[in-house]
Amino acid sequence: RAKVNGRGRVEMFDAALRAELEARARLETEIRHGLAAGEFELHFQPVIGVATRELRSYEALIRWRHPERGMVPPGEFIPAAEESLLICEIGRWVLNTATKQLSAWTWQDPAGHGDVTMAVNISARHLASRSLVEEVRHALRESGLEASRLVLEITETVLLDEPTADAHLRDLRALGVTVSLDDFGTGYTSIGQLQKLQVDTLKIDQSFLRSSEPAGQALVQLMVTAAHAFNLDVVAEGVETQEQLDRLERIGCELAQGYFLGRPKPAREIPVSPTDREVTGTDVTAANG
Ligand code: C2E
Ligand code: MG
Ligand code: MG
Ligand code: MG
Repeated sequence: RAKVNGRGRVEMFDAALRAELEARARLETEIRHGLAAGEFELHFQPVIGVATRELRSYEALIRWRHPERGMVPPGEFIPAAEESLLICEIGRWVLNTATKQLSAWTWQDPAGHGDVTMAVNISARHLASRSLVEEVRHALRESGLEASRLVLEITETVLLDEPTADAHLRDLRALGVTVSLDDFGTGYTSIGQLQKLQVDTLKIDQSFLRSSEPAGQALVQLMVTAAHAFNLDVVAEGVETQEQLDRLERIGCELAQGYFLGRPKPAREIPVSPTDREVTGTDVTAANG
């Protein structure tokens, strides 16, 4: 009897595993097809100077315009792509597309975009791949963008899991590219480790902004102070209210990103002329994000 039960469980497990593997294989096939069919697009979210309210950077965020499912957010396909080498293909496409976009904006409005940078999210597996440095060099060459205008956003997991990540980050920074540590505070990196990491900028995870408790605010203050002590720039993610922005200004956090300052939007909805470029901080009604 025990045997029958045991075997039943094994079969159930097999069936569930098989279904999961099939679903993943299907998604991978669909992603590959979507890449070839041009179904992916980038939305761009502004990063703003807190004191000046000036546009400082854009973060490129991928979306999948799926023929049946509509606009699919990255959380629904990036994790699957990260299971395979597909994430490197996606990352290449994002690098090439984002650098070309900033280059185009710079040509259209040199005064308004000459100092603006473009941030691209790079997955752990892509950072570990031997070809990333050459791919970044290629994207810069093809777009004509200076290396200093490109920011690569990596997460803390990268730094722990990949022994080659550190070497690749060194090579990338030697090119003149900026490296930003995304979602800081959600992983295992301690503040003390910051000075040893190959990064230039810290992005404080949006969960810390949410907290209205004194302890949460003290943590933001602490992260900003530590970042400055180690000569890192700081971006606060997920700014949704004027109050949060005011608090960041008091704390001395110089850069901010969030729905209050601008939602991610496709390039065609982003005005590029110098007069239209001013950030109003009221962009909360846009449909994207
Ligand atoms: P992330 O890099 O931390 O990006 C910030 C996410 O927070 C974005 O979600 C953005 O739309 C959202 N966000 C920005 N401001 C606010 C706000 O004020 N409130 C709230 N609630 N959310 C805000 P999105 O676009 O869905 O991207 C989610 C994650 O997917 C990204 O987190 C990043 O880890 C990953 N991702 C996005 N694009 C790419 C890509 O091209 N390549 C890779 N490898 N990962 C990507
Ligand atoms: Mg990011
Ligand atoms: Mg983040
Ligand atoms: Mg994230």
